[in-house]
Amino acid sequence: MFNKASFLTRLVASSVRVSEAAGGIIKNVMAGGDLKIVDKAETGSGYDPQTEADRRAQYCIVQSLQKHFNNITIIGEEEDTTACPEVELGFNEDVLLTDRLISPELAQIKENEVVVWVDPLDGTSEVALAVKNKNLALLEQVTVLIGIAYKGRPVAGIIHQPYHSTSGRTVWAIKGCGVHGLVPATGNTQKTVVTTRSHLSESVSSALEALKTRNLADNVEKVGGAGFKVLKVLEGCAAYVFASAGCKKWDTCAVEAVLTAAGGRLTDISGREIRYEPDVQLNNTGGVLATASWVKHQEYIETIPKDIKNNLPEVASKK
Ligand code: AMP
Ligand code: MG
Ligand code: MG
Repeated sequence: MFNKASFLTRLVASSVRVSEAAGGIIKNVMAGGDLKIVDKAETGSGYDPQTEADRRAQYCIVQSLQKHFNNITIIGEEEDTTACPEVELGFNEDVLLTDRLISPELAQIKENEVVVWVDPLDGTSEVALAVKNKNLALLEQVTVLIGIAYKGRPVAGIIHQPYHSTSGRTVWAIKGCGVHGLVPATGNTQKTVVTTRSHLSESVSSALEALKTRNLADNVEKVGGAGFKVLKVLEGCAAYVFASAGCKKWDTCAVEAVLTAAGGRLTDISGREIRYEPDVQLNNTGGVLATASWVKHQEYIETIPKDIKNNLPEVASKK
């Protein structure tokens, strides 16, 4: 069955497995208690922690996928990794069952035509805080993100949440084949907007204030991680708003694929689509706006003040 499936389906089936293996690695490092945190931030630009879990999880994901799919391009968040045994890559059988549903265009994609964007641990700031404050509830906000782009746009995504319930959950989607692993909300009486917990800025706050005055944000919840915020949007929040730079392509590729499959949208805060070619600027310089299927994306874009948008221009390719 595996060998008969199209390349994209096989890559997603394997990525689901490897995301779960990465989740296991994260839990092992946490259980060991020594996170070996280093700060990746450039001097004067805040705090950007990396733990042993980030380093091991990325090694595992990249090595395992690259071994089985020799010609794919993988761009992972971490420059430094720590060797750990790579996974004997299995595959998720439910993914293979969707192979008959994928479009002819996606069915013919070849290995050298995709870019796989990997965030081995999204929500590292929350991990660091959870340990510091002994507040393990924050670990719910950790996700492993694997996004697959073709012709510069997301076609499939995997969001694994290791600390959901007792054994974690994996939410995944292939373009045109629906969302698997959760049932997306189709409406809500309140419009709750989720935003950053650890990267608040004046422009983020001003954008939220503007949305409040137009009844597009009844409540604001500050939570960590792009993966967790998009899960919240899938499960009943109206939008994820981040009117600031700093979020990267590996934060948005997987979640855009999953949200789009549920009828939602993800763009920058000016409504421009985010590109995922291999030579693209890594930073989402235009900010991030993700909306649920049951709200109007355009209304959110129009309500965010022009001066905030002007301060967040699109920078398409690396300097
Ligand atoms: P947050 O919403 O703050 O949890 O951020 C979502 C993702 O974007 C996380 O992976 C963060 O590390 C990343 N991110 C957002 N802003 C910044 C920033 N100023 N510096 C580094 N990473 C950021
Ligand atoms: Mg991240
Ligand atoms: Mg990360």
